[in-house]
Amino acid sequence: MCGIVGYIGKRSACDILINGLKRLEYRGYDSAGVALNYNAQLTIAKQKGKVAALEAHICNDVSHDAVEKACSGIAHTRWATHGLPTEENAHPHRDNSGRVALVHNGIIENYAALRKQLEKKGSSFSSETDTEVLAHLVGSFYSDDLLGAVSEALKMVEGTYGVAVLANDSPDEMIVARKGSPLVVGMGSDESIIASDVSAIVAHTQQVIYLQDGDVARISATGAEIYTLDQCVVDRNISSVEWEIGAVEKSGYDHFMLKEIFEQPSALENTIRGRLDKVQGTAVLSGLNLTPRDMASIKRLVIVACGTSMHAGMVSKYLFEGLADMPTSVEQAAEFRYCNPLVGADDFVVAVSQSGETADTLAAVRESIQKGALVAGLCNVVGSTIARETGRGIYLHAGPEIGVASTKAFTAQVIVLLMMALKFGRRRRLSREAGLMISREIEQIPAMIEKVLEQNEAIAKIAEKYAQVEHAFFIGRGILYPAALEGALKLKEISYIHAEGYQAAELKHGPIALLQESTPVVALLNDIPGKEKTLGNVAECRARKAPVLGIVTEGDLATAESVDDVIWVPQCSVYAAPIISVVALQLLSYHIARIRGCEIDQPRNLAKSVTVE
Ligand code: GLU
Repeated sequence: MCGIVGYIGKRSACDILINGLKRLEYRGYDSAGVALNYNAQLTIAKQKGKVAALEAHICNDVSHDAVEKACSGIAHTRWATHGLPTEENAHPHRDNSGRVALVHNGIIENYAALRKQLEKKGSSFSSETDTEVLAHLVGSFYSDDLLGAVSEALKMVEGTYGVAVLANDSPDEMIVARKGSPLVVGMGSDESIIASDVSAIVAHTQQVIYLQDGDVARISATGAEIYTLDQCVVDRNISSVEWEIGAVEKSGYDHFMLKEIFEQPSALENTIRGRLDKVQGTAVLSGLNLTPRDMASIKRLVIVACGTSMHAGMVSKYLFEGLADMPTSVEQAAEFRYCNPLVGADDFVVAVSQSGETADTLAAVRESIQKGALVAGLCNVVGSTIARETGRGIYLHAGPEIGVASTKAFTAQVIVLLMMALKFGRRRRLSREAGLMISREIEQIPAMIEKVLEQNEAIAKIAEKYAQVEHAFFIGRGILYPAALEGALKLKEISYIHAEGYQAAELKHGPIALLQESTPVVALLNDIPGKEKTLGNVAECRARKAPVLGIVTEGDLATAESVDDVIWVPQCSVYAAPIISVVALQLLSYHIARIRGCEIDQPRNLAKSVTVE
């Protein structure tokens, strides 16, 4: 969600921090701020709104000496949880003495009690945030050991945090810590850059340490010393980030979302590469780390996920049940804990999360591990919390996804789940020949997506016709039902049109009452089993005067005649159909949002990686 950047080194910190915040802008936020440590003083600048507003404020109103000469500083983009998005509530926050400043991602759950205690001892607060409590706490412990003071303060805190802390009289160090909110330390030459996300670091270095929950670290220009909160030294590996700065730039596209839609063929090739065994007709997914005995003992698959990832999970129910006879349930991660989940040793729980930090999914992972299930993570971000805590899983290798509305991560998730279903299917019931056929189909998916992308201009034209509607329905059946849900989600996320996805037959159990001339229905009519029945539902919609836009297989003229407008997609297998249809729906949503003038990469109120419950 919100972002943290910190710098300590020999260069001027301010520019590096502001550029780092810009790299994190995609995550969604409402205000931003920096603290610069110069000449034994912490200079703080904050602004409501965009990083550009903060930048202008720094240019006009902040001491040039601090801006140019400070060689250490911390910065933050806030996604408000406690208190309105105002300048006072923006981070950094400081203690009453002004010696300590900090930025924080997450939630201090016991902040109200702590605030009362601190007020009794004379602290006065200038914001409504939970975070300010932490600044005062650190200040109350600080005399000359900042690491010790931060550790003591964090021991009193319940909740989640990624924090970075500066003290005015200790210019050569910055203290960072994490619990439930990511923090990465970039190791440059004679400088260190910390951030909540590697995209703010890769411009400077590709050598990074992913801090783990419970770590607190002293960062200096020459590196990091990492401890537990009880000040025992811990050792963390230095990893190399695989992608370079170009991966987090728009490279000529108007929006990251469009770039990521168009990247799908190459991203999915990366996802598939080296994972298909073309002799045995199965998938090689060694990260799952499942012994033949594990494979045999698994009786049920449970997918836990939120949002778009949950739609990928819903597609996979058809894959696991269809290809591997494996009972599969898909659970909303946020609800999982509230229904006494009956998972145990015979269950394989797969947590699907692009960022690998989704708080609700992580909570479901922990609950499942505790109940003795085998648990795997399916994440895009390497080294993320879910990837680490599950200890087994499959990375998407789709490259960084910056657009808040997920596109390539969804298609990569479905492909990975398809490969998993193939692997289980081959062990349970699929012949080698059937396995070989499916692996060939998987390999063809990137080329099929290319064909959908060739429809971009045609889709943009259709978008003009539908861009001004207020409501829309998406319908699909079977494996295309979750694709309809995903199409509706994409449209509402970025265009703010009220859109609902329904199983095609379900429409008449209520929502059909809402259909009228001004409420279009997008129908997934790929030429796969179930199409004829969905066509029946399309007829019901048209009989109520709702215009129907069909996603139709090339050459299927009879189907095209049954709808008002058509987006053509290539002929494909049942398994590829949800992927290629969703790519068409991504483009449709994109163009509608563009025509409506929406902020496509940073839709209002949304954040990229949802690290609060
Ligand atoms: N809970 C803190 C606040 O509302 C931090 C929110 C964030 O993670 O940006 O200020």
